[in-house]
Amino acid sequence: MSYLIDPPAVPTLPVRGTDARFPVHRIYCVGRNYADHAVEMGHDPDAEPPFFFMKPADAVLESGATFPYPSLSSDVQHEVELVLALGKGGRDIPLGDAEGCIVAAGVGIDMTRRDLQGEAKKMGRPWDSGKGFDHGAPCSELVPVAEPGELGSGSILLTVNGETRQQGDLNQMIWKIPEIISRLSELFTLAPGDLIYTGTPAGVGPVTRGDQIRAEIDGLAALEVSVG
Ligand code: MN
Repeated sequence: MSYLIDPPAVPTLPVRGTDARFPVHRIYCVGRNYADHAVEMGHDPDAEPPFFFMKPADAVLESGATFPYPSLSSDVQHEVELVLALGKGGRDIPLGDAEGCIVAAGVGIDMTRRDLQGEAKKMGRPWDSGKGFDHGAPCSELVPVAEPGELGSGSILLTVNGETRQQGDLNQMIWKIPEIISRLSELFTLAPGDLIYTGTPAGVGPVTRGDQIRAEIDGLAALEVSVG
């Protein structure tokens, strides 16, 4: 078997404690999974449940890298999120089996061209250019998870140039981790290699060139990105 062109490289992330890397298959994201963020975006979390969207796998950006400020936007914003890395997948995964799919977790930033996303919302168009752009999914090293239940709570924090912008707790998620995986598997066949960005707490805001962003989740990892 040969390829017509060189096959594209598999995007990967480092894993704590091993030289083996995690190959990324798909990136799923949960929208408005924290009530205080839904409210800051002008929505009523009681009336509108969370939902899903996707980013391309090669949007991942490693900790320590420079995030190149993207073109055609003047309002690029940070959204700090818990990232789940799946070692198992499936369809219609029952709630009770969902956490068993998680092999590792990290802290990520769902970078958003808010101006392009806002325009898309207004026009009823897809969000891809606002959410699915190059390098739009920074993620820390992944930490192997032995007890997925412990991911249900813990401090989540993002600072820009040392100033706290987002601070919340994973226990504020509207859809909890088992529910996210189970619902997502009703829409898509989940697979080993999938990443799930689980939504952001309040405090999202713009970044500018030269900013140093630091994101962390208690007991997991830290992510450092500079904006170039
Ligand atoms: Mn998000």
